[in-house]
Amino acid sequence: MLTNPGNNNPSVTVIGAGIVGAAITYTLAKRGADVTVIDKGRPGGGATSHSFAWINATAKHPVSYHDFNRRSLGMWDRFARGLDTDVGLRWGGQLEWASTEEGAAELRSRAQQLQAWGYPCELLDAAGMARLEPGLTPNEVAAAIYCELDGMVEPTTAAEACIQAAAKHGAKTKLETEVTGLSTNNGTATVTAGGENITSDVVVLAGGVDNTLLAEMTGVNIPQQDSPGVVIRTSPISKPLFSTVSVVYAPPLESGRPEIHLRHCLDGTAMIGEGSQESLARDDTQAHADELLARAMEYVPNLKGATAVPVPVGYRPMPLDGFPVIGRPAKAPNVYLALTHSGVTLAPLISQVAAMEILDGADVEFLADYRPDRFA
Ligand SMILES: Cc1cc2nc3c(=O)[nH]c(=O)nc-3n(C[C@H](O)[C@H](O)[C@H](O)COP(=O)(O)OP(=O)(O)OC[C@H]3O[C@@H](n4cnc5c(N)ncnc54)[C@H](O)[C@@H]3O)c2cc1C
Repeated sequence: MLTNPGNNNPSVTVIGAGIVGAAITYTLAKRGADVTVIDKGRPGGGATSHSFAWINATAKHPVSYHDFNRRSLGMWDRFARGLDTDVGLRWGGQLEWASTEEGAAELRSRAQQLQAWGYPCELLDAAGMARLEPGLTPNEVAAAIYCELDGMVEPTTAAEACIQAAAKHGAKTKLETEVTGLSTNNGTATVTAGGENITSDVVVLAGGVDNTLLAEMTGVNIPQQDSPGVVIRTSPISKPLFSTVSVVYAPPLESGRPEIHLRHCLDGTAMIGEGSQESLARDDTQAHADELLARAMEYVPNLKGATAVPVPVGYRPMPLDGFPVIGRPAKAPNVYLALTHSGVTLAPLISQVAAMEILDGADVEFLADYRPDRFA
């Protein structure tokens, strides 16, 4: 609810121009709001620049969170079309296969669950998988699944495009300017950044991992898990890696090792990660990057000739219970929190509901499980 109910055009300051803050800034500015965005770095330079950027509702539980992701996935096309730039949004789905009976049983049960939730997920055998992706050399295929709705995007390009589009709609941007203070008083919030005090009706905290610190400045507790992740890059590859799908999950070559996932990016490079989207990883050495690429080459012959480019560890914004934190805390009603894992998938939806709650005074019911006061 609006803290100043008579004010239907509140001024808003957004802290953070990652994919989440940039999307919120864009959506607010498009609606004509008086909005300023501040980032201590450049748009999309935080966790967003480390993201594997798989847009999905596949790896999301329980069903309410799956539906939340699916809703946002369904918004990405229209969201990207407003951005005047090719942000690398590509569909094509996710393919995953297992080489052991144990892995196959897990895939079968996952497919059954997703189908029960009405999410297209097809179970394939080796021949079906070869028809879908004839260029792969998967060795053993005990079972495969294909989730055709999933996609990918270039998240830093998308964050930059959001900020540019927001500026065209009148948003003010302060980049390379750190917020060092935040206080609330008499229905307003004041941000100190670059030696300046900026007072507005609402401050959106979209500072990613730094949201815990920013929220603390107003006495609000938003705990996070430490969630390091590593996704490496390769040199550009001119041949397409896949014919249909955008994201591939491949089984480990040896037992006891995690699976790997990969995608081919808009700039020709490939991204390769290990384990699931929540796996903790800290090894950002060249040796590890070489090893990941060598493993991927076993399955994707068109990677031959590429070189591995290590990428420093990235830290996922990760609320303590793993679920998004969206909305106003009772203690600081002029502050609006936007903190989430899977922020690349969720940015269009979060930006839309945040704009409705900030500008229209809406109380979006399906956010009930994600309110900040669960940590109060
Ligand atoms: C390895 C890895 C893989 C991932 N894979 C996926 C995936 O496949 N699919 C998916 O949907 N999601 C994925 N994610 C998660 C997703 O990337 C994040 O949820 C998303 O990028 C979060 O965006 P954000 O805007 O909230 O945070 P960030 O991108 O971190 O942006 C926060 C911004 O706030 C700024 N900031 C912070 N403090 C201040 C301050 N005091 N003053 C000014 N500015 C400040 C920072 O400079 C930064 O630019 C992955 C993340 C990682 C790390």
